[in-house]
Amino acid sequence: MDIQTIRKDFPILNQQVNGHQLVYLDNAATSQKPTSVIQTMVDYYERYNSNVHRGVHTLGTLATDRYEEAREKIRRFIHAKSDKEIIYTTGTTQSLNLIAYGYGLARLGKGDEIVISPMEHHANLIPWQQVAQKTGAVLRYFPMEEDGTLALEKVRETISNKTKIVSVTEVSNVLGTVNPVKEIAKIAHECGAIMVVDGAQSTPHMAVDVQALDADFFVFSGHKMLGPTGIGILYGKQELLEAMEPIETGGEMIDEVGFQSATWAELPWKLEAGTPHIAGAIGLGAAIDYLQQIGMDQIQSYEESLTNTAYELLSQIDGVTLYGPGKRSGLVSFNINGVHPHDVSTALDSEGIAVRAGHHCAQPLMSCLKCESTVRASFYFYNSEDEIEALAKGIKETKEFFG
Ligand code: PLP
Repeated sequence: MDIQTIRKDFPILNQQVNGHQLVYLDNAATSQKPTSVIQTMVDYYERYNSNVHRGVHTLGTLATDRYEEAREKIRRFIHAKSDKEIIYTTGTTQSLNLIAYGYGLARLGKGDEIVISPMEHHANLIPWQQVAQKTGAVLRYFPMEEDGTLALEKVRETISNKTKIVSVTEVSNVLGTVNPVKEIAKIAHECGAIMVVDGAQSTPHMAVDVQALDADFFVFSGHKMLGPTGIGILYGKQELLEAMEPIETGGEMIDEVGFQSATWAELPWKLEAGTPHIAGAIGLGAAIDYLQQIGMDQIQSYEESLTNTAYELLSQIDGVTLYGPGKRSGLVSFNINGVHPHDVSTALDSEGIAVRAGHHCAQPLMSCLKCESTVRASFYFYNSEDEIEALAKGIKETKEFFG
């Protein structure tokens, strides 16, 4: 990987912040965008901006073709069987809400169980709390080990024939834990439950194969993988999506409309009411082109080495507590003992280093870690070893300053 050449594709990285070269380490919140993605979206607005699936004029046809070509790129990227299984949404949050309300609400009853893990982002927690409250289902949690991993024998003990839905993140946005979602899916299926995988933090960093995982639903956001905000994906096995009632209705998703009732369009459009984020979908297609040009396996192994360096350097600093397992994906969460995470983040920002401090939308996990918040530095393939060293130096200086 030639990082210096790659960085030239990301104009935002080449700037000074507070008098220092920007070191952007907040990639788990959102990634930066290469020129090719930005230009693809500008090109849509400048040359063929039109609505999709409506006009038969030239620009409308071009927009529709590009929008559907992007869907096909996404299908191939996650190895889904059919384009019908790729539903455009606004992001992971909307995708999970669609599953909870569009699939869960009609199928769950009193005493049924939904099982999630304690490390879920609020997006994969609150919709299930809401649906459990509305249906009388019980929301259960897999126990988590001290190091922030899930043990398969405990997963097996938690799932039973009462379990109807298991929903787990593939990678924790706080701990970097990579969960054994394929094995969990197998256990869920043996008990007749469906498996939902939150791929928000895995899809940007590793190859995804929804068929090999045997996920029933798999969700992710475009903006964390070089794409624009406001576009994401709900993948679902065709038979499950066919059986789902749309929870959003209106234009685009219908077949025939009468005065009193209507019939629905085929998949995927049945679940895509209204004018979609056309530029966003096409931009996500360009993001996938960029990722594939580098190669997901290359990205994963390069980031693994960056993360190992970060983990080693930070664990050598006295007074720094690191959270999560040794083997992890693309990020480190930590605290400097006695210093508030927001102060750490502000001090690092004054050196041009962007990290995130807070509960990272995972408050139940914070209580398991016995803290209110952490500092998180999260990496992408355009980060360099030098930037990891700048982070470690910044942490040492912050510690001394507050010491
Ligand atoms: N799930 C995980 C694991 C995340 O890290 C995030 C975002 O940080 C989300 C879900 C929600 O993603 P979005 O805000 O793009 O809908």
